[in-house]
Amino acid sequence: MNQFQYYTPTKVIFGKGTEENMGALVQEYGCKKVLVHYGGGSVKRSGLLDRIYQSLDVAGIAYVSLGKVVPNPHLSLVYEGIELCKREGVDFILAVGGGSVIDSAKAIGYGVTNEGDVWDFYEKKRNASACLPVGVILTIAAAGSEMSDSSVITNENGWVKRGYSSNYCRPKFAIMNPELTMTLPQYQTMSGCVDIMMHTMERYLNHADNMELTDGISEHLLRTVMKNAKILLNDPENYDARAEVMWAGSLSHNGLTGCGTDGGDWASHQLEHELGGMFDVAHGAGLAAIWGSWARYVVDAGAERFAQFAVNVMGVKAAGDGMQTALLGIEAMEDFYRFIHMPVSMKELGIEPTEEQMKELARKCSFWGRRTIGCVKVLEEEDMYQIYKKACN
Ligand code: NAP
Ligand code: FE
Repeated sequence: MNQFQYYTPTKVIFGKGTEENMGALVQEYGCKKVLVHYGGGSVKRSGLLDRIYQSLDVAGIAYVSLGKVVPNPHLSLVYEGIELCKREGVDFILAVGGGSVIDSAKAIGYGVTNEGDVWDFYEKKRNASACLPVGVILTIAAAGSEMSDSSVITNENGWVKRGYSSNYCRPKFAIMNPELTMTLPQYQTMSGCVDIMMHTMERYLNHADNMELTDGISEHLLRTVMKNAKILLNDPENYDARAEVMWAGSLSHNGLTGCGTDGGDWASHQLEHELGGMFDVAHGAGLAAIWGSWARYVVDAGAERFAQFAVNVMGVKAAGDGMQTALLGIEAMEDFYRFIHMPVSMKELGIEPTEEQMKELARKCSFWGRRTIGCVKVLEEEDMYQIYKKACN
């Protein structure tokens, strides 16, 4: 087991009706004015936004609001949010939504508290030294941003999507009522389940040894998400299944399943971010479309680990050598994705990049040749291109 730090400062308030006392909760942070940040309208339609405003009114907390966060959230709205917060003296951001809203809130929080262009952090030009406090009311189980140290933003200038991580942006609290996720379209629910699984699989597929407990947590988390995703296919209002998936979403990306690993691989996420930036696809669906091609490309460098995944997670019977078992595990994962109506190729995802676009994806993903990605097998620009090519059909 490798050295690790495990830091999860987010207060989790989980269960039915937990959003009701939201105003009183925000009050605990002694803020003067709150930015209520939300997306394209689902929280208006469900009546959640009105309930939040009421709760803030009852608690006597002043607020301004900014909606219209899109999936794969845009930098231009982040700039707008920064200006609004500075003008209005906002000192706390309440993110009401999913990963896109939370990530946009975190980026605004960086922009208000640090000098200069916030995009510098996402371009890895310099580091942030603070972030406004962010609180979350989660409406979709997926990204895990409600407890994570990460934020992913798309710059419309060049359509590049970049992540930035620091402990400053970890949310102060996350209110998680599984009932709030029952209005999700099936595609978003399943896309969320894929992202949750991938956050653990990225960490699980690594070169570290002797991680009985971390492996056991990861394997059980993966089996739990698979089991409950299947339940939600036919019974989307099943509270317990919603609850299992929601809690898995947070645990999958708060660092727990990475304890003792070598940090994990993350190449599938990096490859997908370019798809999200260029083609605006749902993040989890994009991951499903790319994962099998990535896995087959790197499996020879980590067959033993893939074989363990096959047996312990996918229930594959060990067959022949490790490699054969590993390949069966990859197939079984893709079968599961198909079962929950997720794509296993870019074509199924609904995009057909041209040869030139695939080269551009690889160029962007390699930061124009300046970085490699992955640790199961270290990937260069040409490898990235080959994986995109494999993922076409
Ligand atoms: P999302 O992009 O926040 O939301 C996806 C869609 O679901 C939106 O159209 C949203 O509509 C809708 N929606 C949300 N809650 C709903 C509800 N209760 N009922 C009906 N519709 C609802 O989804 P996400 O998967 O959570 O976030 C994806 C983003 O997070 C990507 O940009 C991804 O790269 C990023 N990400 C971040 C991290 C991290 O740690 N920071 C990790 C992984 C991924 P409305 O806009 O109308 O609400
Ligand atoms: Fe993700």
